[in-house]
Amino acid sequence: MPPVFRFAPSPNGYLHLGHARSALLNFDLAQQAGGRLLLRIEDIDRARCNPHFEAAIFEDLDWLGITWETPVRRQSEHFAQYRAAADRLARAGLLYPSFESRAGIARLVAEEQARGKWPHDPDGVPLYPGVARTLTPKAVAELRLAGAPTALRLDMDEACRRARELDWTELGAGPSGETDAVLARPQAWGDVILARKETPTSYHLSVVIDDALQGVTDVVRGQDLFWSTSVHRLLQALLGLPQPVYRHHALVRDESGAKLAKSNGAISLRELRAQGLGAADIRRMAGLPAA
Ligand code: GLU
Repeated sequence: MPPVFRFAPSPNGYLHLGHARSALLNFDLAQQAGGRLLLRIEDIDRARCNPHFEAAIFEDLDWLGITWETPVRRQSEHFAQYRAAADRLARAGLLYPSFESRAGIARLVAEEQARGKWPHDPDGVPLYPGVARTLTPKAVAELRLAGAPTALRLDMDEACRRARELDWTELGAGPSGETDAVLARPQAWGDVILARKETPTSYHLSVVIDDALQGVTDVVRGQDLFWSTSVHRLLQALLGLPQPVYRHHALVRDESGAKLAKSNGAISLRELRAQGLGAADIRRMAGLPAA
């Protein structure tokens, strides 16, 4: 069976050089291995994603000389599949609802921090400090009735107890050079949200379901997602899904050393194109060999 690669951008802005590195690397590796390349549109965040950016993704990738299989999977069209997976985890007693707003969580974190140091996840976000896991069924019913914001969280301690120790095969490297067999450390993320009332899934849940459904064998993506792999391995184990191999690549950084991001104004591929650059320039700037 030929290996299956995928590039999985979110259409919430224009692609930049960091995306170009990921997309071109996936394309090159798939070609070298006689494999397949899928394109997946990760558009679960309906408020931030839009069809204009999706069309721009197709256009930019095409301009880079990348070809991919069709039909393209669009996550927003498959909410029922993600909901079914969340239901399975819920039936297994691994999810619980929490009802705090974002501001409410920030207040709880501030209270914890006033008492002492409070742990942060690998992305630097404070862990969930709430007590929703221990709410009585009556309290849950009341909060639901009151229309409180609802998020379904993974009971991380219980999930880790059931899955035991997990690792993954890393063909690239983590931020501190981790490679080969990397021990998953999902506990570092705390009780992650797997679904919300308004979006019946999350990045972690949909990526794991889709990689399995699409038969992805090789996940090639930026190092910023390296430690997310811990959660992905855990979900694969809990849901009985196959595990791909992973290759995390170094991020493209700006002059100040910050990773390129839509939010900090990274120059887009279309701006570079408007400046007269071509696909060969982008390959060079993304640190990839000429085609
Ligand atoms: N959609 C994610 C992003 O744009 C990438 C997901 C992945 O490669 O696992 O950052």
